[in-house]
Amino acid sequence: MSIAQNLLKIKSSLPSTVTLVAVSKTKPVVDLMEAYDAGQRIFGENKIQEMAEKWEAMPKDIEWHMIGHVQTNKVKFMTPFVSLIHGVDSLKLLEEIDKQAKKNNRIIDCLLQIYIAEEESKFGLDEEELNEILASATFQEMKNIRIVGLMGMATFTDNQTQIKKEFTHLKSIFDSYQNLKSEICNLKSLSMGMSGDYQLAIECGSTMVRIGSSIFGNR
Ligand SMILES: *Cc1c(COP(=O)(O)O)cnc(C)c1O
Repeated sequence: MSIAQNLLKIKSSLPSTVTLVAVSKTKPVVDLMEAYDAGQRIFGENKIQEMAEKWEAMPKDIEWHMIGHVQTNKVKFMTPFVSLIHGVDSLKLLEEIDKQAKKNNRIIDCLLQIYIAEEESKFGLDEEELNEILASATFQEMKNIRIVGLMGMATFTDNQTQIKKEFTHLKSIFDSYQNLKSEICNLKSLSMGMSGDYQLAIECGSTMVRIGSSIFGNR
């Protein structure tokens, strides 16, 4: 099947409450344009440089999501145009995003990444660190960021029970912060689920799925 066919098939299977982020990392602009021409407007990339090059080359009505781990010193290269940063996992990074967003006269939406997997390699905050950030004065004084949700990645495994347990855990954290609403924090999006596990993620309450290989083919 073509990229457009893959995309339309997945899109038609998603509930209307779920946003599709087409993960286009490593793929050439022609592939992204095929998805664009089929109606896709939200693309996810995991390298800032690559995302910036694609942003320059492509139509300007695209929403660019940074889904990868972000290095503080590279934030400035995406602040002029990024729509949503999924992988925010420290106060220091949030401070840099706030600072750069201010320079660009923007308010940038962010998701806080929560660590839910069993692997040591996955980035993210635990619940205590999440609490610390949200309670800190530094955070509460920020004016150019908005925390609009949480993001998580399950363990890379075939064990559906394990994955379900991790997604359910993230959903329960997400739910527990629903009453904590402020100008800069209002958790609406729950970004979880990739090609291999997005159906399960949706069953567990995901509102945003990040799908790459099922649309664009293997990398
Ligand atoms: C690459 C990537 C995806 C998409 O993975 P697929 O298995 O190709 O769908 C989703 N989320 C993150 C954070 C990624 O890095």
